[in-house]
Amino acid sequence: MLVTVSKSVVAKSDIDSLVNAFMESVISQSTGQTEFHQAVHEVAKSVMPIIQANPIYREAKVLERLVIPDSVIMFRVVWVDDSNEVRINNGYRVRMSGLIGPYKGGLRFHPLVNLGVLKFLAFEQVLKNSLTTLPMGGAKGGADFNTKGRSDGEIMRFCQAFMNELFHYIGPDIDVPAGDIGVGEREIGYLYGQYRKLSGCFHGSITGKSTNWGGSQLRPEATGYGSVYFANDMLATRGESLEGKIATVSGSGNVAQYTVEKLNALGAKAITLSDSNGTIVDNDGINYEKLAWVKQLKNIHRGRISEYANQFKGSTYLPGKRPWDVPCDLAFPSATQNEVEEEDAKQLVKNGCYCVSEGANMPSTPEAVDVFLNARILYGPGKAANAGGVAVSGLEMNQNAGCMRRSRDDVDNQLRCIMHSIHENCVKFGRNGDSFVDYVRGANIAGFVKVADAMIQQGIV
Ligand code: NDP
Repeated sequence: MLVTVSKSVVAKSDIDSLVNAFMESVISQSTGQTEFHQAVHEVAKSVMPIIQANPIYREAKVLERLVIPDSVIMFRVVWVDDSNEVRINNGYRVRMSGLIGPYKGGLRFHPLVNLGVLKFLAFEQVLKNSLTTLPMGGAKGGADFNTKGRSDGEIMRFCQAFMNELFHYIGPDIDVPAGDIGVGEREIGYLYGQYRKLSGCFHGSITGKSTNWGGSQLRPEATGYGSVYFANDMLATRGESLEGKIATVSGSGNVAQYTVEKLNALGAKAITLSDSNGTIVDNDGINYEKLAWVKQLKNIHRGRISEYANQFKGSTYLPGKRPWDVPCDLAFPSATQNEVEEEDAKQLVKNGCYCVSEGANMPSTPEAVDVFLNARILYGPGKAANAGGVAVSGLEMNQNAGCMRRSRDDVDNQLRCIMHSIHENCVKFGRNGDSFVDYVRGANIAGFVKVADAMIQQGIV
């Protein structure tokens, strides 16, 4: 379907005008959804030259169609807290595109969740899922619910109330949600329990399940491990490896924990973790023993990362700070969107950081991305670098459909292969004519072309 990617038939200034006109139309249809506009703008800049060089994409209006969700489900979630007060939250599922497989993407429970945030995440998910090579469409959902400070009973009742509505819309061939911020193993358990009760089926309609009842080996590890594999592949393009490198990591949840674990395994030293209150710095390295303590703190006791500095001598806690002032070779933003701003990026580059692999979704602002690209460092955007999580979710769907079970080694090998092929695809579409690889452009074009071709092949629907 795709005719050419190498030759732009339109001058750069004309491309900029086309992107601006396109964005005006997107913004007028989605007022106030700033994160969504940010995500679409980045992709539009990468793919507009391809669209102009391939009239079939232009005539079919592929980009215009891709930025409007197939459907959006919005619902009320009513539950009762421990003091018997009735609580009300907003629940959502944004089904962005089902062109290349059942809708697939996580659920986020966080007070800042709104339609714009979920549309940005769902849009990124479409291209990310396309990059994995697996047959998965893109979606995202969640609620403006804060899990912090809630008892297990409250979390269970909230999850059950949320599923009471969502279960109408999901199924193994329809839409398969998973976890994201605020939705970990505990929440997936409660969500699936209610789904099973309501549907009367043991379908693989959610991924991230416990390995005791259908979950894939290595799913909790997959996003963090995959982001480190991606960094390793980027470093290999310069004849380097992770061995002996110093790394900063943000966040202290699922993705951050397994990023640190894999960095240790491959000979690098992770020296920071953070949460929304501040950052800990441990120049001796967050080794396996310390990481095991962090997992207990965050996953069982639901504590704050500041407690690390009381537990481990020689480490320090920086209240209200992000990790990006701390000198490092490699950075792994693994907390949330827009957590690396322009000044943070400048500081990272100034301090010698030359490889950034994003575990989080869109953690760098557009200005920060420009700093990385202008400095010509190795910069792996989230939609490529963190695709390992959804890739292993895809393997979990496949495992559930076949009533089979894969070994840990098998899943790890597949994860490595998928991350490697994503990296290859980014290099293929992201080379600038010299040795520099623009992984943003590469990921956007590689993800886009497959979905755009599917759209044309499936007709005007
Ligand atoms: P978790 O809920 O397990 O952890 C999130 C971490 O990020 C916590 O340490 C949290 O701190 C921190 N955080 C959240 N919001 C903010 C904020 N506004 N400012 C600073 N820190 C914040 O989530 P995950 O680890 O699963 O997800 C992290 C990122 O990775 C997200 O962007 C997610 O979309 C992305 N991702 C996750 C995948 C997965 O498989 N889980 C797959 C692909 C991407 P606090 O406790 O203070 O809120």
